[in-house]
Amino acid sequence: MVAKINANSCAGCGSCIGECPANAVSFNDDDISFVIEDKCNDCGSCLDICAHGAITIVQSTKKLM
Ligand code: SF4
Ligand code: SF4
Repeated sequence: MVAKINANSCAGCGSCIGECPANAVSFNDDDISFVIEDKCNDCGSCLDICAHGAITIVQSTKKLM
């Protein structure tokens, strides 16, 4: 399982980037955050910090393959 950020809900505040202990969250060119799946350890810390409810935990697409 990994965190996934809904780009349509993300306000680009950056809170999740500072919260992630694995440095698994980064901004894309549009200042919308995204999760680097290979780094995410499914800790869930970023979920509560997002005031916009943009982050969910989902099945990793890579692990399904
Ligand atoms: S905390 Fe939420 S709104 Fe802020 S950058 Fe992260 S996903 Fe986007
Ligand atoms: S679940 Fe944990 S490791 Fe994954 S992006 Fe969120 S804070 Fe980082």
